[in-house]
Amino acid sequence: MILHIGSHISSSKGYEAMGKQALKLGANTFAFFTRNPRGGSAKAILSEDVERFQSLWKEQGYGKIVAHAPYTLNACSDKPDVRRFARETFADDLKRMEYTPGNYYNFHPGSHVGQGEEAGIRLIAKMLNTCLKQEQTTTVLLETMAGKGSEIGRSFEELSRILQQVELSEKMGVCLDTCHVWDAGYDIVEDLDGVLEAFDKTLGLARLKAVHINDSMNPRGSHKDRHAPIGEGFIGLAAFERIINHPALRELPFILETPNDDAGWAREIAMLKERFHCISA
Ligand code: FE
Ligand code: FE
Ligand code: ZN
Repeated sequence: MILHIGSHISSSKGYEAMGKQALKLGANTFAFFTRNPRGGSAKAILSEDVERFQSLWKEQGYGKIVAHAPYTLNACSDKPDVRRFARETFADDLKRMEYTPGNYYNFHPGSHVGQGEEAGIRLIAKMLNTCLKQEQTTTVLLETMAGKGSEIGRSFEELSRILQQVELSEKMGVCLDTCHVWDAGYDIVEDLDGVLEAFDKTLGLARLKAVHINDSMNPRGSHKDRHAPIGEGFIGLAAFERIINHPALRELPFILETPNDDAGWAREIAMLKERFHCISA
């Protein structure tokens, strides 16, 4: 059993280039933006490029990759044109994801910008009910959020309330961002077991499909969402060692979104691999 770990990789040169870059960093999974993180139109996908990536990935025996929707996608904006952009981008991304079947598509639920969480949750579920298709092979992940401003997803309960309103909820999962849950107030340093129990009670651990592994520049409950390199923030390396080895988490893909360059990510990947405890079955 190996640690599934990688970082965000630039998608500007296509799938094969992302795969090769991941290998260079010592990664066996990765995240990428489906288009410019600030939005805009996406580049055409070339099937030969995807095929080369798929055979590279198969050859290595590597698992799922975790795409990230643009930050500007806000399903629960108070502006109809922003909601339309979110819906169209989301639907288009889901079509694009089918070039690489069976992977994950992660998105930030959205910010209700003063309409209240009830209205926000309803709008997010509405977008999902419009866009999710029975035939899709992609699992869509709701990301746990720090609760900055009017962000929805600052608690497991809010994510659960979204899922309760989604018809094809079997197409849905959750991505736990360590910086975000820490900033939201969950004590993953002193009480990781308790946090995961709360997750299990509210959402069910079967929903948990990926982890964004980031340290935080701020103390617990700060609602700031400022990522720090692993071991250089308030969460700290010892807690990350427990996180990657936790029985409920250790088989999931871990994605670094730390402020780093390629050399920094390669170092973090190596450091975490070293701290991954091999247990024989
Ligand atoms: Fe994110
Ligand atoms: Fe994240
Ligand atoms: Zn963040």
